Amino acid sequence: MKTQNRILITGGAGFLGSHLCDRLVEEGHDVLCLDNFFTGGKQNVSHLLGKPNFELIRHDLVQPIFLEVDEIYNLACPASPIHYQRNPVKTVKTSVMGAINMLGLAKRVKAKILQASTSEIYGDPNVHPQKEDYWGNVNTIGIRSCYDEGKRCAETLFFDYHRQNMVNIRVVRIFNTYGPRMHPNDGRVVSNFIVHALKNQDITVFGDGMQTRSFCYVDDLIEGMIRMMNGPDEFTGPVNLGNPAEFTILELAEKILKITGSRSKIVFAPLPQDDPRQRQPDISLAFEKLNWKPSVELNEGLEKTIGYFETIL
Ligand code: NAD
Ligand code: UDP
Repeated sequence: MKTQNRILITGGAGFLGSHLCDRLVEEGHDVLCLDNFFTGGKQNVSHLLGKPNFELIRHDLVQPIFLEVDEIYNLACPASPIHYQRNPVKTVKTSVMGAINMLGLAKRVKAKILQASTSEIYGDPNVHPQKEDYWGNVNTIGIRSCYDEGKRCAETLFFDYHRQNMVNIRVVRIFNTYGPRMHPNDGRVVSNFIVHALKNQDITVFGDGMQTRSFCYVDDLIEGMIRMMNGPDEFTGPVNLGNPAEFTILELAEKILKITGSRSKIVFAPLPQDDPRQRQPDISLAFEKLNWKPSVELNEGLEKTIGYFETIL
C-alpha cells in the first residue's frame, strides 16, 4: 500500500493549488491547504472541506508558520501579470520571504519541498526553445521584474538551502498552464479570451499577436508536479514542465472564437512592457527523468475549459 503523507500546499486555494489538493486528497494523503486568498478563494476547495483528510488554513506566507508535515508544495504567489503587478513589493516578499519561511520549515521538520518556479525566469528568451541550462534574459527593473526576480531568487534560496542545509528540494519551471478554475478576472490570456468570447465582447490582443506561448492543460501539469515530488532525491531539477506545442496569441484567439462560435471581434492594444516574444519548453529532461510528457492537446483542453466557463458565467 502507498504511504500516506502529511502534505502542505501553499497557494492551495488558487488555480493550480486546488487541482493539486484534489489529486492528493483523492490519493488519501493528509492535505493542509494554506492560502491568504489574494487571488485564490475558498470556493476552489469548498468541495473538499468536509473530508477528514483535508484542512484549510488562512495564512500569509510572508509570516513564518510552524507545522508538522512530510512534504511541501510551495505555490503561493500571484501568477497573472495584472495581479502580481498590483502590489509588486508584496509579490517579491511572497516569493522570497515565502521561500525562506518554507525552506526553514522543511529544514526543521526534514520535509521534502517542491518549488513552483516559472518559465518567466527565462525572461524574454534569446534561446528557443528554452532548456533548463539557459540562464535567461531578465530585466531587473521592469514591471515584470517583481515576479521574475522574486522567482529567480526563490530558486537561488532552494539551491542554497540544499547545499548548505541538505534540504531535500525539487524545482519545477512551469510554462503557461490553463484549465477549469482559472478565475474569470484572472487576467491571463486563456481565461480573458474565453470569458470575452462567451460574452460576445471584443477580444483584446496585445501587440500584433505574433508573440508565442505554449499552453499546458492543468491535469498534465499536476501529473508532472507529483511525479517530480515522488521522483528520486538526486533529481532536484530545475525541470521544465509545459506543453511544447507553440502558438501565436492571434492563433489562440482564433481557435477560441471558432470553438465558442462567438460573434466577438479581435481588437488590438499596445504590447505591455517586457512582454516575452516567444516561449516554448524543451521537455526532454522531464521525459528522461520522470517519463512525463503532456497528453492533452490545445483544442481538447480549450473545449474542457470553455465548458467550465459556460457553467460559471
Ligand atoms: P493563482 O493566482 O491562482 O494561485 C496563487 C495562490 O497563492 C492563490 O490562491 C493566492 O491567494 C495565493 N497567495 C498569493 N500570495 C500569497 C501569500 N502571501 N500567502 C499565502 N498565499 C498566497 O495562480 P496559479 O496559476 O495557481 O499559480 C500557482 C503557482 O504556480 C504560482 O507560484 C505561480 O507562480 C506558479 N506558476 C503558474 C503558472 C501558470 O501558468 N498557471 C506558470 C508558471 C508558474
Ligand atoms: N495577452 C493578450 N490579451 C490579453 C491577455 C494577454 O494579448 O487579454 C497576451 C500577453 O500580452 C502575452 C500573452 O497573451 O503576450 C500571454 O499573457 P499572460 O498574461 O497569459 O501570460 P504571460 O505573459 O505571463 O505568459
